[in-house]
Amino acid sequence: MAKRDYYEVLGVSRDASPEEIKKAYRRLARKYHPDVNRDDKNAEEKFKEIKEAYDVLSDPNRRQRYDRFGHAAEEGFGAGGFGQGDFSGFGGFEDIFDQFFGGFGGMGGQTRRPTGPQRGKDLRYDLEITLEDAAFGLETKIRVPRSETCNTCGGSGAKPGTSPETCTYCQGTGQQQVARNTAFGRFVSVKTCEACGGTGSFIRERCPQCHGSGQVRRERSISVKIPAGVETGSRLRVSGEGEAGIRGGPPGDLYIIIHVKPHDVFVRQGDDIIVEVPISFVQATLGTELEVPTLKGKAKIKIPEGTQTGTTFRLRGKGIPHLRGYGQGDQHVKVVVKIPKKISPKQRELLLEYARLAGEEVSTDDNKSFFDKMKDAFGGK
Ligand SMILES: [Zn+2]
Ligand SMILES: [Zn+2]
Repeated sequence: MAKRDYYEVLGVSRDASPEEIKKAYRRLARKYHPDVNRDDKNAEEKFKEIKEAYDVLSDPNRRQRYDRFGHAAEEGFGAGGFGQGDFSGFGGFEDIFDQFFGGFGGMGGQTRRPTGPQRGKDLRYDLEITLEDAAFGLETKIRVPRSETCNTCGGSGAKPGTSPETCTYCQGTGQQQVARNTAFGRFVSVKTCEACGGTGSFIRERCPQCHGSGQVRRERSISVKIPAGVETGSRLRVSGEGEAGIRGGPPGDLYIIIHVKPHDVFVRQGDDIIVEVPISFVQATLGTELEVPTLKGKAKIKIPEGTQTGTTFRLRGKGIPHLRGYGQGDQHVKVVVKIPKKISPKQRELLLEYARLAGEEVSTDDNKSFFDKMKDAFGGK
């Protein structure tokens, strides 16, 4: 069965806000939650589908990738592209319990490690820079919205002066056992504790600042240093500047993905720079000295007599520094002979004189019939 569009699954538009997505998810998850529809196999499938859609759309990084690449983004997710970075989003399942059992707070994490600290999520930031910035490096500040540990409660989620208590329902394990008697015997399965949402604790009085999550959203200005030589797709890791960790876990990392804007004049090829410079037929024939733009100002090159169109001249070391290792690329100047589109009668006269001296036959008769021109073109007599 073909996978349904995640937006369709949640019944939201493609430009839905995170709040709208969360709301839609909660509504659907409550409706199809397996605990509510114990005998309905379809509900379970439906719930899984909803959960999957929400996992992707609630994570800005995954949502962005999904918007661009569709389901293919998820298949390659984790394996390619971002390598070791953990961009996967949890927190979804726990959110519903939060709703179900309003009185019990606590931000859920992975249910398998209920009470342990958990590392914060990695963040992705796409930064667009100019070719000059890529060539020389750049120090800049970026504004990154992220979750941070709540200062008021120190991340516990409990009102200052109180602390989270061990969940009495699961004795702090975050799990509960469910026994089922069937014709084949008694089956015991383990599932997330419903009372505490798997956190193993509950908060009697929530922190007024973070409402029990232990985290607050904040936009943080972060100074970053982009080294010379980066290119589109370069990924820079800023350690510890991702989302805050949960229950005292370390923060995630911030990954800056570089996008280099196309340049009006220069084309980049690896660490080399290519620039096309127009020269006239006369300059190419007689030779000249040419002033050409480089990333570091102007440079002069000598065009020898009789230079053909398309000839490339190299300016050693005028390219982009190698990101890894020493040295830098070159600049290649490609000269293109431009044929004038309009000339004066005097110029025409001189060109005809030139052609006569070169022994070239030039038809000056504008009224030459089309048929004759065709014959010329195909070498007929
Ligand atoms: Zn707090
Ligand atoms: Zn519990």
